[in-house]
This record gives sequence, structure tokens and C-alpha cells, in this order.
Amino acid sequence: MPDWLKSVDQPVYEAITRELKRQREHIELIASENFTHPAVLEAQGSVLTNKYAEGYPRARWYGGCEYVDQAEDLAIERVKKLFGAEYANVQPHSGTQANMAVMMTVLEAGDTILALDLACGGHLSHGHPLNFSGKFYKVIAYGVNKKTEMLDYDEIEQLALKNKPKLIVAGASAYPRTIDFKAFRAIADKVGAYLLVDMAHFAGLVAAKIHPNPCEYADFVTSTTHKTLRGPRGGFILARNEFSKKINTSVFPGIQGGPLMHVIAAKAVAFGLALEGSFIEYQKQVVANAAYFADCLQKKGYRVVSGGTDTHLFLLDLSPKAISGKEATAVLGKVNITVNKNLIPFDSKPPAVASGIRIGTPAVTTRGMKIIEMEKISDYIDLALSNKDNPKELESLLSKVSELTKGFPLYPQL
Ligand code: PLP
Repeated sequence: MPDWLKSVDQPVYEAITRELKRQREHIELIASENFTHPAVLEAQGSVLTNKYAEGYPRARWYGGCEYVDQAEDLAIERVKKLFGAEYANVQPHSGTQANMAVMMTVLEAGDTILALDLACGGHLSHGHPLNFSGKFYKVIAYGVNKKTEMLDYDEIEQLALKNKPKLIVAGASAYPRTIDFKAFRAIADKVGAYLLVDMAHFAGLVAAKIHPNPCEYADFVTSTTHKTLRGPRGGFILARNEFSKKINTSVFPGIQGGPLMHVIAAKAVAFGLALEGSFIEYQKQVVANAAYFADCLQKKGYRVVSGGTDTHLFLLDLSPKAISGKEATAVLGKVNITVNKNLIPFDSKPPAVASGIRIGTPAVTTRGMKIIEMEKISDYIDLALSNKDNPKELESLLSKVSELTKGFPLYPQL
């Protein structure tokens, strides 16, 4: 860790040191998290944080932007190449702001959007009543089929025909299956709606070309940079050139001021790394690990929502095991396995309790873990949940987890 921080601000230094220790010692299964490359951390912790650069490369409101322009140009060029997009805006501070900028570009307050229900895996920024999207727009939610727990394109089409949305949103935070972008495009065309695909969760898989590319079908594609893409925390927007001016204006000055140039430089580094061949191997392993992991738990009698996964994540329905998502998260936390509670489709429990947990493999795969380790972790999960009131067993599991994580060192250079 840097010596400056230690001498200038001991409490913050300690918080960061403890968090590093936690990341090293825990099995990280939160599907939206990853361990970014030290080069990304270095760029994000650089002097670029000092620079104001309102505007866009070569059209800034401040002087002295020639070098931050280079960083932003690199980020734009690389992300366009990665996804085969005509236009990119890499300034959104987050995925939510990327979605907000797109909505501000094509919608007026009161317009109708059609998006996935939060209870079926949708995201807050797709219409939650407390989010800007739910406050400014009329939200019609589509769900998943009760039997298959997968998207029902006939139902989505019926809802679109009935409600005539101006924007249809595809994409999710907790949906384990490949989304049919072509079907969404056809529905959007039938009702004259714009199509936004929020690929925040599976962007890394798209970048590695092991997942359909939404840029081929959507008017707008938004994403975060910190999940499967393994970059710094942030967002970006892709679109056709015809929308470039409007989207740029929606981001700045529409919803943001000065861009975070240190984060944009870190995004450029992450996009560069994602263009390397090894990123494809990594993403293939992420998906193979998730499929095998889900299979192992199914064999132990757990119910996997929709029967499996096509991506980096899956949902476990714990109701047959008579334990809630909230309790399971707490029990697994005791043995250093980190997950999050999650609603399952048609959940009878409230979101703060939930019947399920969401499991993702991007972070453990970055550590180098493969299917053998997925089998071990599924054993540990099962043992922990089956022995939740047995402190001795939980203690013995904690040392097994410690042994496993020690075998996959994280950030040895820090
Ligand atoms: N979109 C989807 C589908 C997400 O899952 C998330 C975050 O989990 C976001 C957007 C929002 O990203 P952020 O937390 O950067 O605002």
C-alpha cells in the first residue's frame, strides 16, 4: 500500500488495508463484482483526478486538456472496437447515469417505457418508483414466464402493443439466460419504440464474442465497466452516429459536470486489456464455471431458477431448503463466502428477506479458479447452509475456505 496514505490518514489507510485483506480472504460470488487489473487501479489513482475537463476531446471548457484528451480518445476508440459500435460516450459516472442519459435523449417526462420487472431481475434504473426512471416516466413492467422463469416474448409483445411505449429496455441484474435481442428489435419496430439494451452484466461476454452483441439490434446500448468487463466503476453508452450530438449533450451538461478523467483513463486500460486474446479465455472460463457450479448445486438438491444459466450468474431458490436469502447470506458470510440475497421470480418474501441468493463467477475466475474449485465451493455452501446452527462445523468450513483462497493469491503486488 502507498506510504503517503499511511502517514497522512491512518484511519482511511486502515479501512483500505482491511478491505484488501477481506477481498483476499473471502470467496467473492457477488455477480456484479470483479477484481480489476493493478494497471487499472494505477490509472484510477493517478494525477488525472486533478483535472477539470468539462466538454469532450478538443472541445473543452477548460485549458490544459491535451493529455486527458488522449486518455478519453483511447477509451472511446477501444470501446468502439471492442463492441463494433459507431459512437461511444465514456463519461457516465455509473451505469445508472448511462441509462439516465439515454432516457433524457429520447423521452419527455410522462412518456411510457417498457422494462423488466425488478422482481424478475430488472434494475432500479429501469423503472423503480424511487429511482428517477420510475418518477419521471410511466413504467410498464414485463416479467418472466411462471413455468420456465424465462422471458416471454409473446407477453412482451402484447404489453408493447397495448401500451405503445416510446422506449423498450432489455437487460437485467439477475437474469441468467441469454436475451433474444432480435425478438426485442422486432417488438420495438412493431410499435415504433426505441430499443435500449443495458448490457451491464454481460458486457464482458459480449466483448469476448461468446454472447450475442446487442449493438447489432439496439438503438442504444448502455453498460457498466466494473462487472464482467473487469474495469473501474463507471458507465458508457454506445449508439449509431446519428445520436452522438444528442447523447453527448444529455451526459454533459444534461446530467453531469466534469468527467472523472482518472476513471476514464482506467476505463481505457480495461478496454485495452479486454481486447487481448486472454480475455476471451477468461470469459469462456467464467461461463463454464457458472454452468458447472449451478449443476453441482442442483445435484445436491438445490433449485436453480430457470433450471440453469447461459451466462456468468445464476439464482438459487432456497425455499425448498427452508432458509431465506437473507439468512443464507449471513450464514455464508460467517465462513467468508460472499453472496447477495435476491428475489426469485414470483417471490412470496419481501425484497429485504428474499427467497434466493444470486451467485456469479467473474471474481473467482479472475483469481484463477476453475471447475474443480466450483465443486469445492458448492460443497462449502451446502455444508454451511445445512449446518447453520453448528458453530463447530462453520469454524471448520472457515479454515477450508481460508486454505482455498490462499491457493489463489490476490493482488500479491499490493
Ligand atoms: N444496469 C444494470 C443491469 C445493473 O445490474 C446495474 C448495477 O448493478 C446498473 C445498471 C447500474 O450500475 P451502477 O451501480 O454503476 O449505477
